[in-house]
Amino acid sequence: MNIKEAWETGAKKLDSAGIAEYQLDSRLLLEYVTGVTRQDLLVHPEKELSKEEYDKYDLCIRERATRKPLQHITGVQNFMGLDFKVNEFVLIPRQDTEVLVEEVLRDLRSGMDILDMCTGSGCILISLLNYSLDTNGVGVDISTKALEVARDNAKTLLKDESRISFIESDLFDGVEGKFDVLVSNPPYIESEEVLKLQPEVKDFEPRNALDGDADGLYFYRKIVNDARKVLKPGGQIYFEIGYNQGESVSKLLAGANFGEINVVKDYAGLDRVVSATLLRD
Ligand code: GLN
Repeated sequence: MNIKEAWETGAKKLDSAGIAEYQLDSRLLLEYVTGVTRQDLLVHPEKELSKEEYDKYDLCIRERATRKPLQHITGVQNFMGLDFKVNEFVLIPRQDTEVLVEEVLRDLRSGMDILDMCTGSGCILISLLNYSLDTNGVGVDISTKALEVARDNAKTLLKDESRISFIESDLFDGVEGKFDVLVSNPPYIESEEVLKLQPEVKDFEPRNALDGDADGLYFYRKIVNDARKVLKPGGQIYFEIGYNQGESVSKLLAGANFGEINVVKDYAGLDRVVSATLLRD
């Protein structure tokens, strides 16, 4: 079978499985298995696949047809221009979260210490360190398995690994020291809503990375309440939030001695980030 036929056959199977981006996913899997580029596909559609390649591709297509996320098959997601390793123990980095990283980068200065609460794959903290100079960071997560992924990503992506460390902790329990920046993309989906998400998310991504309890605000409340213990005076906090949480998270911050509260929209025009500064007493 040639690559064009393989692409079409794969796409058809994914379409029947109800996958909206069936053309894209079948192409990405073909690229993953054979190493052909999009250009090869266009210029040499007649190039033959070996039986081994086709079998491997077909296996990937069948896995994807179960609605397993593409990134769990390829093991990678690009975020902020960096290739992060991912698996079923971490949330797959989302493009929306790049808005959060960009907001922090805007204010980040040399020498600053960053705390990333609920670090998951480590995508936020590793990107921040990668795109700044002389900054250091600590990533916190409750999941041992997630931290294994984050450590792996730090080793692969950061030139100087001594800038980063990780703590296994239930929120601030095991955290010591003071930080200039606290950043977090905590689980924030209302429990009831989690079950309504697409199968790729609700059946394959870790529920404890998604579920923010009945009103979705559980982790914001906890983090806002304790933030002053770990932030230096004048320190800054940055949260990713759901599209409908700008007002409630801003209120939580205002009630805990934070000022300069700012809600930032994502590229879809929806509220996505809240930042604030810890006021001096
Ligand atoms: N901070 C990680 C990310 O943004 C994990 C977030 C989470 O598990 N809710 O990808």
